[in-house]
Amino acid sequence: MRTLAPGSTIGILGGGQLGRMLSVAAAQLGYRCHVYAPNANSVAAEVAAEFTCAQDDDVAALTRFAESCDVVTFEFENVPVGPLQKIRDCAPLHPPIAALDIAQNRIAEKVFARDHGGTTAPFAEVSDRATLDIALAEIGTPAILKTIRMGYDGKGQSRIRPGDDLEDHWQAVAGKPCVAEGFVTFSHEFSVILVRGQDGEIRFWNTPHNVHEDGILAISTAPAPDAILAQQDAARALAARMAEAMDYVGVLTCEFFATESGPVFNEMAPRVHNSGHWTIEGAVTSQFENHIRAICGLPLGDTGLAANRVEMHNLIGPQADEWQALLADGANHLHLYGKGETRPGRKMGHVTKTYF
Ligand code: AMP
Repeated sequence: MRTLAPGSTIGILGGGQLGRMLSVAAAQLGYRCHVYAPNANSVAAEVAAEFTCAQDDDVAALTRFAESCDVVTFEFENVPVGPLQKIRDCAPLHPPIAALDIAQNRIAEKVFARDHGGTTAPFAEVSDRATLDIALAEIGTPAILKTIRMGYDGKGQSRIRPGDDLEDHWQAVAGKPCVAEGFVTFSHEFSVILVRGQDGEIRFWNTPHNVHEDGILAISTAPAPDAILAQQDAARALAARMAEAMDYVGVLTCEFFATESGPVFNEMAPRVHNSGHWTIEGAVTSQFENHIRAICGLPLGDTGLAANRVEMHNLIGPQADEWQALLADGANHLHLYGKGETRPGRKMGHVTKTYF
């Protein structure tokens, strides 16, 4: 285990709210953060010691950045893998590049989960308009068409109902390579959030029950209802097998549907995750702090609940304009990400409430 002493510099690839909250957790432990992001107005850079504003494929800038860091991590899973391979000798990178590679491709991710004993929705690759017909003949409708790469928060997705004109759906995904997925009938959605240390120790947080609206996470609550807890062991075992197979270090999130026949794996995020934001106040150690602990080779913190019940609501678009009303309830923990412009569907902040 390579332990980094406080005062060391942690590089964070990506400049959004996850990087912001990682940077705050790192500062609490005495580390400095150096954020690398392509946009000048990075909400992570605002709370970090150093900022490099450069493109993700600028190998010269990435090399200078990595050489200034004692360890590098990422908060955005679409960082291109090729340039990262070139800087791997400059500083240790956690989680491993293999995790990014798998998570960037929805098909590779499902195959990986299946190879480790997981169940996924039925799926078929769609590389052009003709294979869309073939794929849907195979998996049937309703179905969801998702771009294989670069989709998040319901973007790059189109929901196909029986009898729909497929041309509209093909246009909706801009003719990009896709995966067609059978529509899963589920009672609940949940995520397994784990942290794995450099010595291979794995800890799980309480499993949150996640409610999505329009493909975007709206609410996470813990502890989860019994219908989810009944499927927790199988889902955790799969997530742990996947983490071990990748020799993963840091926080890993796997999203699942709870169905009558057990947990169905949807996708994984090789990073801290929105469904774990409640851990800042609702767990003894937050996902952000434990990610920093893991990548710096420190002992992992207790992941137990710090309250009887925790509820996290995302503030999407104009919902964040209600900040004054939210603060009027002294039990609310309000987090605003400092994003200047409110746009519909944009994650502007979140609010967490703990119940004792
Ligand atoms: P994703 O981007 O894959 O996380 O999808 C966003 C949300 O869309 C999920 O959290 C679900 O609420 C819904 N969804 C995605 N895929 C499926 C599916 N195959 N069946 C049913 N609902 C889905």
